[in-house]
Amino acid sequence: MPLLAIDLRRLHCRDSPPSQVHPSQTSVYFAAKNEELGGDKSGSFPSIIRMRLRTRRRRSLILPQNGANGVRQSWHERFCDSPDVLKSARRGQTVVPVLDTEIGGSEFITMAGPCSVETEFQLIATGNHVSRAGARILRGGAFKPRSSPYAFQGHGLAGLQMLARAREESGLPIITEVMSECDVPMVAEYADILQIGTRNMENYSLLEAAARSGKPILLKRGMMATITDFLRSAQLILDNGNPNVILCERGIRTFETAMRNTFDVAAIVLLKQISHLPVIADPSHAAGCRELVPALARVAVAAGADGLLVEVHPNPDKAWSDADQTLSFAEFDDMMASLDPYITLRPRVAIREMASANAMEAVG
Ligand code: PEP
Ligand code: MN
Repeated sequence: MPLLAIDLRRLHCRDSPPSQVHPSQTSVYFAAKNEELGGDKSGSFPSIIRMRLRTRRRRSLILPQNGANGVRQSWHERFCDSPDVLKSARRGQTVVPVLDTEIGGSEFITMAGPCSVETEFQLIATGNHVSRAGARILRGGAFKPRSSPYAFQGHGLAGLQMLARAREESGLPIITEVMSECDVPMVAEYADILQIGTRNMENYSLLEAAARSGKPILLKRGMMATITDFLRSAQLILDNGNPNVILCERGIRTFETAMRNTFDVAAIVLLKQISHLPVIADPSHAAGCRELVPALARVAVAAGADGLLVEVHPNPDKAWSDADQTLSFAEFDDMMASLDPYITLRPRVAIREMASANAMEAVG
């Protein structure tokens, strides 16, 4: 039967291959259709069909071509929203000064202390102990974001005052969380580093207020945040005139429920290779149980982290928050001793990785 005898109205309303037909099979599909409608199998279509086919072929080829050739892009393209966070010829490693300590420099910095500020005794005892064991910064939450509205929410201002007394006693600078933009001036008056918690990583008004305080900021990765999201938040702080940003990987939520979070060690490796900002690991919140904390801490050092944030308490089982993941003094000492060989290897590893960083490309 001649091709012109094909019922074009029928073809017109049925000329899109069903979605399960792969783009590469479009011409096979049309040849079969053509034959079914009385045309020949050889694929000699009437011009209108040929035209549609050509258009469709062109469209359908875009995706496979991208899949085959377009997957390699530079990290600068992938994280184009956060240009100032990325390493470049102009931006060397950021070193954040905190009193007489530096984060992101040659020294590996451990920040340690209780999850929550409970009593002056608890805080001063912990500050003195972790300082003797090699910690350089004392942590403790005066404002606590909690999973339950009935759990201890922190002492607020009284907690900040206890932190200030512990700083005097131990000589360690203080890191503490700020949860609300209204509290930024008060917390900044006491803290040496402002911590932005995982639940607030994308709270841009808080980030802006914290940035403008001029204090160094430890930005925790949101538990559901991609690295792109994380870097965008860091960029926002830089855009608000504060260059002293410290990135903190603290575990993310995945399908795995055996641990509190999934420690994304690859994120540490990647961040160290692409960003000039210091990267700190929090193995306590990543693991959720104290038995895993020392091993994750060692992994973090090996991955290239610039330091750790670890929860420690004089009597962890009685801690008012995060008891399960909190180390005792003896456990903290053991962990610190076990880190030594890994810390010794750091400079050599860092130099090798810096040399290979320029050649890196993102793979889709
Ligand atoms: C904390 O450091 O005690 C804390 C609440 O951390 P995160 O925001 O990572 O849960
Ligand atoms: Mn905690």
